[in-house]
Amino acid sequence: MKLILLGAPGAGKGTQAEIISEHLNIPTISTGNIIREALKSGTEMGLKAKSFIESGKLVPDEVVIGIIQDRLKEDDCQNGFILDGFPRTIPQAEALDRMGIVIDRVVSLEVADETIARRVSGRRVCLACGATYHVDYKKPAVEGVCDKCGDTLVQRKDDHPDTVKERLEVYHEQTEPLKDYYAKAGKLVTVEGQEAVEDTTRLTLAAVEV
Ligand code: AMP
Repeated sequence: MKLILLGAPGAGKGTQAEIISEHLNIPTISTGNIIREALKSGTEMGLKAKSFIESGKLVPDEVVIGIIQDRLKEDDCQNGFILDGFPRTIPQAEALDRMGIVIDRVVSLEVADETIARRVSGRRVCLACGATYHVDYKKPAVEGVCDKCGDTLVQRKDDHPDTVKERLEVYHEQTEPLKDYYAKAGKLVTVEGQEAVEDTTRLTLAAVEV
């Protein structure tokens, strides 16, 4: 199964991706995580992406397309994958088509902007392994500590309120048109994000029929 998860930043794509990933035993590919990783290790790509990611803007298409092209060639992607955070623009979706990748389904996770602004302020991440948490909705067993690897949880720089506003604008302008793109291709399924994560999960799993 080749899936795309669409949705505004903070809509809960990452959490849903992790759950579907376990159910279907296919990897999640998060361009955001790959870029943050590159930033942390100071690679050339990371340095190029730094100012974009920190100001809430999109990293240039050619950079992320290159990342995806390389990642999808790896062995673990041969039985399918979940794309979390890619594509985010029409040119990125067209690039995926040109690579000959046939996507089975695109799940659009719908959450109102006001809810997102509230949720994102409580989001915490583990910079070591990429796991995400929330101070109200998805608490780690020990406050401030990652369940998976034991590292310290932090708030992402781009989860600060002003940057979130910018990221939502970017989403509406550049990413939302993808809903139409995939609806026309007969691939779009919409899931209304619920207050409780497990309720959203029920709907997401039904949307991908697992
Ligand atoms: P995310 O963790 O998916 O919210 O991504 C964090 C940031 O990484 C975004 O705000 C962008 O700056 C950058 N990014 C991630 N994926 C993409 C993409 N497909 N196209 C452009 N920029 C991206």
